[in-house]
Amino acid sequence: MEFNIINPKTKSELLGAIRRENNFRFGAGFTDLLMELRKQPEENLTIINLSQIKDAQFTGIKKSAKAYHIGALFSAHNIVMNEALRIHFPVLHEAAWNLASTQIRQVATIGGNLCTASPSGDISCALMALKAECEILGTSGKIRTVPITDFFTGLRKTILKSNEVLYAVIIPVNDRKTKRVFSGFIKIGTRRSMECSVVSLAYHIQIDADGMVIDAGAGIGSSAPSIRFPKKACTYLTGKNFDRISVKEKNEFAEHILSYSSPISDIRASAWYRKEVLFNISKSIFE
Ligand SMILES: Cc1cc2nc3c(=O)[nH]c(=O)nc-3n(C[C@H](O)[C@H](O)[C@H](O)COP(=O)(O)OP(=O)(O)OC[C@H]3O[C@@H](n4cnc5c(N)ncnc54)[C@H](O)[C@@H]3O)c2cc1C
Repeated sequence: MEFNIINPKTKSELLGAIRRENNFRFGAGFTDLLMELRKQPEENLTIINLSQIKDAQFTGIKKSAKAYHIGALFSAHNIVMNEALRIHFPVLHEAAWNLASTQIRQVATIGGNLCTASPSGDISCALMALKAECEILGTSGKIRTVPITDFFTGLRKTILKSNEVLYAVIIPVNDRKTKRVFSGFIKIGTRRSMECSVVSLAYHIQIDADGMVIDAGAGIGSSAPSIRFPKKACTYLTGKNFDRISVKEKNEFAEHILSYSSPISDIRASAWYRKEVLFNISKSIFE
């Protein structure tokens, strides 16, 4: 496997490289890209290596009054180690913690997880439950922002144009009336580690002092060509007393989740199995 590598050190060098090159791919942690290129080598390919760029907005995390801004180069390891993310967004902490192995988490980035657009992307699934927004950098240096619900356009496809870079994700802070969050990531695989999910469910539910659900978000992984946001299920839960959800309501919530799944049968699981598991884990979050 041979290719040219360009190592921009600043945002302007990156933009210059994008304008100059014709046949290129971005690489961040390279955990997905190298596997892909090994399977499908490309002739005369240039790799624009993002990992050496020094730009705090691209690599770091910053909190404002309304949101957490996390650079696309922030690694899964950095997510796991960040205390604020662990406390306020357990779903993201758990998803990053469940990704691959210690070694891969050191280099695998948020941006790579989103841009590879795998239906089993763990961090992407959590960001869906958190209703994140994606900041996209164009060649002119301008940034456009799209909701994560619009980011994935199909199997391994995103809204990004070939000359656009995912720059950061924005996670809205929890509602100020939120007294507790019920937030987590369930990953079902064929073994415990180094495994992409057979089915996954991310959820982030905000509950006020009276036990009422004031906001609900969820993401479904490995159940459709791309990660899905089950809007009907989230709306169904909002306004209900979380501590008094009946068996009937749990079933109806799980039915709503299921209506967003269209899994395939493959070597790892049948479509029937994936649906059964998704229904059951959707009910189990209340227990
Ligand atoms: C052994 C193994 C186990 C794995 N287990 C898991 C797992 O359990 N869960 C899971 O979710 N994933 C898993 N993965 C997949 C992978 O590690 C993650 O998807 C990771 O987050 C990818 O990040 P990266 O920085 O390595 O991406 P890269 O490989 O560098 O890039 C991936 C793709 O995104 C593009 N890209 C990267 N950054 C940007 C950007 N900022 N803007 C535009 N395009 C960009 C690249 O061009 C490429 O197409 C596993 C991979 C391996 C090899």
